Amino acid sequence: MSASPLANRAARLIVDLDAVAANYNRLKSLAPSSGMAAVVKADAYGLGAEAIATRLIREGCREFFVATAPEGAALRQTLNDPAVRIWVLNGFEAAAASRFTKAQLAPVLSTPQQAADYRASGLTAPFALHVDSGMHRLGVSPKDAAALAAGGLAPTLVMSHLACSEEPADPMNPAQRARFLDVASLFPDARRSLANTGGVYLGDAYHFNLCRPGIGLAGATALPGQAHGLTPAARLEAPILQLHDLKPGDTVGYGASFTADKAMLAATVAAGYADGLPRSLSNTGWARVGGVKAPILGRVSMDLTVLDVTDAENAARAGEAAVLFGEDLDAMATAAGTLPYELLTGIGGRVERVAG
Ligand SMILES: *Cc1c(COP(=O)(O)O)cnc(C)c1O
Repeated sequence: MSASPLANRAARLIVDLDAVAANYNRLKSLAPSSGMAAVVKADAYGLGAEAIATRLIREGCREFFVATAPEGAALRQTLNDPAVRIWVLNGFEAAAASRFTKAQLAPVLSTPQQAADYRASGLTAPFALHVDSGMHRLGVSPKDAAALAAGGLAPTLVMSHLACSEEPADPMNPAQRARFLDVASLFPDARRSLANTGGVYLGDAYHFNLCRPGIGLAGATALPGQAHGLTPAARLEAPILQLHDLKPGDTVGYGASFTADKAMLAATVAAGYADGLPRSLSNTGWARVGGVKAPILGRVSMDLTVLDVTDAENAARAGEAAVLFGEDLDAMATAAGTLPYELLTGIGGRVERVAG
């Protein structure tokens, strides 16, 4: 049993694992003829990779993607079944060979040098080849892929990544798909993977053999205003530590950047930018107290933020939880000038992750 937020006087992240499972199954239902992996890099987008992966195993997921080998090694401790594949997106180098072997990690190779190093290392685990279809981030060029195919490279998976999957009408999508198909056809025995969360929503033509959603598992997308049928799976909560009656002329926080122009009730909550509440939400963002919108007053500081709870007077008591991100995650990301991805992965290390 986890301590209550009041006892800890600290923010916590409530992770709804049933919602994660429902999101996984919702994405699967959109791509019924494709396999469905789970991208759990950056501690499953801040939600906690161990809990998320353990739950998704129960939903039948057998392939996971992480960014780095240390992330993969940590995940392998949780998922010690060798039949569960852990792909490492950031690639391979000879110096990491023993780490890949020990944790049974499968590299996603993205340069000819990595392919040569992998071959020379004598490792026999399956590997993937990442093809650059136009994003110019990771991946071999189509020309290099052709040379590798001619040299007999035999990946078990060929994959690429979409730059604009959240914009269904963007011409980048069909252009990347066409380039990906050209290269994938050089490796006829390999499975194919192109779609992240946004790609799942682009339809059948983008699903191929394996989809790789990440953000959708958390119930967020970057799809503007589209009914995606996903459920927000995480809620950042912080307890109210103290209340203040403000009089006209009273100021709040560092820099005295907010001045009350009327009598107000203010609540100080135990979350600040060290917990992942961006400072850019100063005087701009909001939380919910008893379901009522409570605007942020003054600057978000490291450990504390002050809310206007004048309209939430009935719920505003010391110990009551203010919800900082949850249902409002997408709107808060917009208010902060960022994306749900950055808000979730920015949630601080000291924030306890609690199943609920
Ligand atoms: C992060 C990542 C994903 C997951 O993307 P979402 O938009 O979070 O679904 C898939 N593939 C690659 C290569 C990635 O880097």
